[in-house]
Amino acid sequence: MTRALLAAALLATCAMALAAQNTPMNKLAERYVKLVLAMGQHDADYVDAFYGPPEWRKEAEAAKRPLAAIDADAGDILSQLAAAPAASSADELTRLRHQHLTKQLQALRARVAMLQGKKLTFDEESRALYDAVAPTHTEGDFKKVLAELETRLPGQGNLIDRYDGFRSRFVIPKERLDAVFKAAIEGCRSRTLQHVELPANENFTIEYVTNKSWSGYNWYQGNYRSLIQVNTDLPIYIDRAIDLACHEGYPGHHVYNVLLEKNLVRDRGWVEFSVYPLFSPQSLIAEGTANYGIEVAFPRPERLKFEREVLFPKAGLDPKLTDEYYAVQALVDRLSYAGNEAARRYLNGRIDKAAAAEWIEEYALYTRPRAEQRVRFIDQYRSYVINYNLGKDMVADYITRRAGDDERKRWNAFEELLSSPRLPSGLAPDARH
Ligand SMILES: [Zn+2]
Repeated sequence: MTRALLAAALLATCAMALAAQNTPMNKLAERYVKLVLAMGQHDADYVDAFYGPPEWRKEAEAAKRPLAAIDADAGDILSQLAAAPAASSADELTRLRHQHLTKQLQALRARVAMLQGKKLTFDEESRALYDAVAPTHTEGDFKKVLAELETRLPGQGNLIDRYDGFRSRFVIPKERLDAVFKAAIEGCRSRTLQHVELPANENFTIEYVTNKSWSGYNWYQGNYRSLIQVNTDLPIYIDRAIDLACHEGYPGHHVYNVLLEKNLVRDRGWVEFSVYPLFSPQSLIAEGTANYGIEVAFPRPERLKFEREVLFPKAGLDPKLTDEYYAVQALVDRLSYAGNEAARRYLNGRIDKAAAAEWIEEYALYTRPRAEQRVRFIDQYRSYVINYNLGKDMVADYITRRAGDDERKRWNAFEELLSSPRLPSGLAPDARH
């Protein structure tokens, strides 16, 4: 590009950003960002990421707006959005933007009501906050899988103890953890970069932490940077290396946030995406894409090969055991909805904390310390649990309908979803948009 062309392009970009800031939609979006920051004063977990103007956060801290005022303001923005729907001639992203802002504000109001003491059932809460309801299951659904595991892991004693014994051979030794994670991230990153163009300065740092209710976390910092934290409270099994590296990093949360910043915040000037309220529909898309992204980057045969040739040796584990380990894990993965069921029963008041941990141990096959960690997670994040497995299934279904088995189409559809403000209800086959 010549210097003159570059200057013209820069001027055009500045003009576009300036024009974008003056539209009525952008004014409403700015008010929304400020409301999310105001919510952060009442709820420490609410603002997961914010990289807009730092003075907006300072204003929110100084003002400490009461919940009732936040709710009234959200109601006013919603009325204005309803009065000015996106033009039917507008492009798809612009129409999705309008729906997205509306649902995010409705979820914000639901969270305000909860903080004010309103009681919702598990399903009412997940619909209000995440725009989705998880299917219900009975003990019988999980017993079939548990019976298969009984045959796979024969021997004396309880199944959970046999599974724990089996799995203890696949722990990453602490002194090898960092090397194994770095290799896993490099594997996830290089596969992602073959298909998705990312800004040259995108980057992340890893920290190892303790005393958390989660096993990994991505804190997006803006400017294409993430802080990825890995919790080392409990032993970390070899399958967690790729799972966490893809989920928190590539093509999961880090890439999702980078693409939103690049495509929506910077290129379009849509400021509402510079803030990420955790208890909102955006979380189902975030967790669902992060979990499905593991399979996008590593389809099963490629994953087994990478585990056998790279990660098992790096962790000092016997590569000959790779297939056996992943065959058992595939069965255990089919128990994941048992965690939702325990959360539903516990949060609906049908069972207490101890019974919830027992349920998770028995039907999701978590050892007791892990089940107790999971209950702490449920206490902190409540119906958020559905975003992982239901979110993954909804995203998988949406991408598969578009791409079938074609790898290139799958990456394209995945990147498009990561770069758009599509809602969870917009993933359904009959969704209107
Ligand atoms: Zn996540």
